[in-house]
Amino acid sequence: MNDLPETWIEVDLDAVKANYAAITGKLQGNSRCLAVIKADAYGLGAVEIAKTLEKAGCEAFAVTTVSEGLVLRDHGIRGMLLILGPSVPEEWRLAVMADLCLTMASTEAVEKLEKICAELGRAVAVHLKIETGMGRTGFSFGELDELAQILRSAQYIKAEGIYTHFARAAQKDHAYTRKQYEFFCQAVDKMATQGISPQWRHVCNSAAYLDYPQWHHDFVRIGTLLIGHYPGPGFQRELCLRDPWTAKSRISYLRKVPKGTCVGYQSIYKTNSATELAVIPVGYADGFGVEPHFTPQGFIDLMKIIIKNVAAYFGVYLGRERVRIKGKTIGVAGKVGMQLTVLDVGIGLCQVGDEVEIPLRRTLANPRLIRQYIETGQVVKERRIQEEVRMAAQASPQ
Ligand SMILES: *Cc1c(COP(=O)(O)O)cnc(C)c1O
Repeated sequence: MNDLPETWIEVDLDAVKANYAAITGKLQGNSRCLAVIKADAYGLGAVEIAKTLEKAGCEAFAVTTVSEGLVLRDHGIRGMLLILGPSVPEEWRLAVMADLCLTMASTEAVEKLEKICAELGRAVAVHLKIETGMGRTGFSFGELDELAQILRSAQYIKAEGIYTHFARAAQKDHAYTRKQYEFFCQAVDKMATQGISPQWRHVCNSAAYLDYPQWHHDFVRIGTLLIGHYPGPGFQRELCLRDPWTAKSRISYLRKVPKGTCVGYQSIYKTNSATELAVIPVGYADGFGVEPHFTPQGFIDLMKIIIKNVAAYFGVYLGRERVRIKGKTIGVAGKVGMQLTVLDVGIGLCQVGDEVEIPLRRTLANPRLIRQYIETGQVVKERRIQEEVRMAAQASPQ
């Protein structure tokens, strides 16, 4: 990394490999890990993470959209690539040619895909998604007869997998999750009696993988654990997971100010002594200080949120963002701006160019931020998405 005032993210590939090894070490029976690397591998960078996992022995990946899958194929990822989300017929020619494995969640889709495959003269493997309580995509129980009938007469489509997705596994709502599993088993049995027995079943996401080892079946679909997180509070931290992610910035400007200096929009911060203010080139446009909307987890959590909002209404801001400089925690001064943030660093302690560690939520970190990949302590690759996009545009036939 040069010393330009930039914000970047260091991704430790060894940590990802270690997490993969920890996860696969606890797989039951013949189950395999289907690495979920949607949303740019939760912000880490799908291509690099897929390459790293492939080297570690991973043979199956999942993303949400066809275009995510095409990018991975373009970069030479050869393993099974399951598209989890719904896709539309306009995407299917490319998907079939790239050997992507589509999820089928409606009978109309199966019929249309069969037609497209007939035109192309190519067989495809698909996975069937069963709706058991997520309320998002999948076949309901009542559709299975018709589905089985269509599949029996299909010449090109082969149902290679069947799966479902849990809505409350991370909340440890075991009754609901068990009910979903029961529905899934009934759906599998029903299909089997109709002559359709996909060879692969999979139901577990990270939370269910931890809590229900008896349900690992042929694949477990793991995202969160791979990137070093547990799916929620209350999980036994029995896997030795490592955090591959550090977001960093550099002080790009420093200025001495007197006591009583107002900082930032709405002047919510005022220095209470003479100090130095440092500026770092990162803001909410990069995902800093941005929080997704969560339902409060319990009463205390609810109270915290209410108090925070009431205090802010009266001009008192609780729970400021914090960063780390040289191992010291420092609160952000004032509001986080769009691309600039101010820190009250004290006199004579920092210099322009000093590194600042920032807590940046992975999935919200702007893809424009540089990803720097580290392996055995060395930077092995740097990724700038602008360049990737430009190169892809130049390579495309139009
Ligand atoms: C995102 C996703 C997963 C992975 O979930 P994690 O909890 O991150 O492991 C698995 N299955 C489906 C269908 C998903 O959308």
